[in-house]
Amino acid sequence: MSEHHRELRRRLREVATLHSVSALLSWDQETMMPARGGAFRAEQHALVARLAHETFVHPAMGEALAACEADPALAGDPVQAANLREIRRDYDRARRLPAELVAEMSETNSRSLEAWKTARAESSFERFRPWLDRQLELNRRKAACYADGGDADVYDILVDCFEPGMTGAEIERLFAPLRRASVELHREVGDAELRPSGKVRGIELSVADQKRFNARVVERLGFDLAGGRLDVSTHPFSTAIGPGDTRITTRYRADKFVDALSSTLHEAGHAMYEQGIPREAEFGQPIAESVSLGIHESQSRLWENHVGRSRAFWEWAAPEARSFFAPAMDGLEPRDFFRAVNAVRPHPIRVESDELTYNLHIMLRFDLERAMVRGELSTADLPAAWNDRVRSDLGLDVPDDRRGCLQDIHWAMGSFGYFPTYTLGNLYAAQFWNALEVEVPGLEERMARGEFGVILDWLRERIHRHGRRYTAAELCRRVAGEALGHEALIGHLRRKLGDVYRLAPT
Ligand code: ZN
Repeated sequence: MSEHHRELRRRLREVATLHSVSALLSWDQETMMPARGGAFRAEQHALVARLAHETFVHPAMGEALAACEADPALAGDPVQAANLREIRRDYDRARRLPAELVAEMSETNSRSLEAWKTARAESSFERFRPWLDRQLELNRRKAACYADGGDADVYDILVDCFEPGMTGAEIERLFAPLRRASVELHREVGDAELRPSGKVRGIELSVADQKRFNARVVERLGFDLAGGRLDVSTHPFSTAIGPGDTRITTRYRADKFVDALSSTLHEAGHAMYEQGIPREAEFGQPIAESVSLGIHESQSRLWENHVGRSRAFWEWAAPEARSFFAPAMDGLEPRDFFRAVNAVRPHPIRVESDELTYNLHIMLRFDLERAMVRGELSTADLPAAWNDRVRSDLGLDVPDDRRGCLQDIHWAMGSFGYFPTYTLGNLYAAQFWNALEVEVPGLEERMARGEFGVILDWLRERIHRHGRRYTAAELCRRVAGEALGHEALIGHLRRKLGDVYRLAPT
């Protein structure tokens, strides 16, 4: 290995190690940290973020990168060429952000997060509004740095931070037909005579037992607990701390077995993606990182929805749950679980929503945040705009801001342009699943026997092991054989809900 390549790798590993320290600080903040530790935690976050940024934008990094780019041996190797392409992208972007702005954003995120927790607990949007304004201002400043004097749309620049290559206009193009189909399906389901029985929901189970059951299921799916943890937090999440350490959290309630399991499957999907990226030797290199949030989300949705909400999964899981929780679930059949987990029940809270109406939640956030970022919607008008949209799209009244525009953590963390990646993930997942069904023979029978390894192996081979070698759009074409579109997801929802509610075929 040449000297400049070794130098580039060493520096990137140092940056990634600093990021892993931030990740660990965040994990602790969400799971263990006492309430009064918030102010000092903000200081810790700001210091580590500044060090990571300074290390990454250091001129010596630029020199090592330029030398590698001029090295024909590296340029001729497709993996190294992809690595250099992605490092260059990250480096040029990071160079445009002044270190002071990075530190300010990091500290603001940490403090705004604490303010949001209080505001949400008190259901007081006005308490959070100054922080929301500040976050919008910082995001506009960040976007202006990235735009570098160009005239790119502010929102497009922010989306590109999470889903490289994606734009607001492209999201609109994908979302519009999905929204029409979702509203139509929602109406058909509402008119259906068959109602999924409430036999599964509402069963009271001890939280300690649920924790053990959830751990058992994710281990069976392929989550490596020797290289990960499953803990509890208010807002379930997954975080890749570093090689050999990928953690997930869930929240439990005695009478919400189905919700906890769904969210555990979701986070395990994220975590198994991280565990499938070959990290040890390449830590810090783009080929040892995930492609985009949309692709990340496709992995969580695939396990949560395509596996965990399938008939075949419950053929295996129902008897497991019955014997584990005996006698609480005696008499429940796989179809009872299948119907319970697929019941369409619009809810004011996004993470409590069903698979169909979930995307309507995302679309309203996309429209509102885009309007706020562009200055077309004032934060003072946000609660009213939010509540109107929930009424028109979901037919629900928002009882208070806690269950309205204060419910999500994203804006409090300064993340604008993040929300659409959830539905993009659903779109990717549906296309990947269609490909998987074609390429893995006897998939349903194998799931019904609890053989999930074939799914994980396929995902590792086709998606995980490549890291950022391909862009999200290239990866989609390679795996699904087509560009990202809306048809696969609409087809999936229609088939599934048609089955659950015995809808007339169209
Ligand atoms: Zn997710």
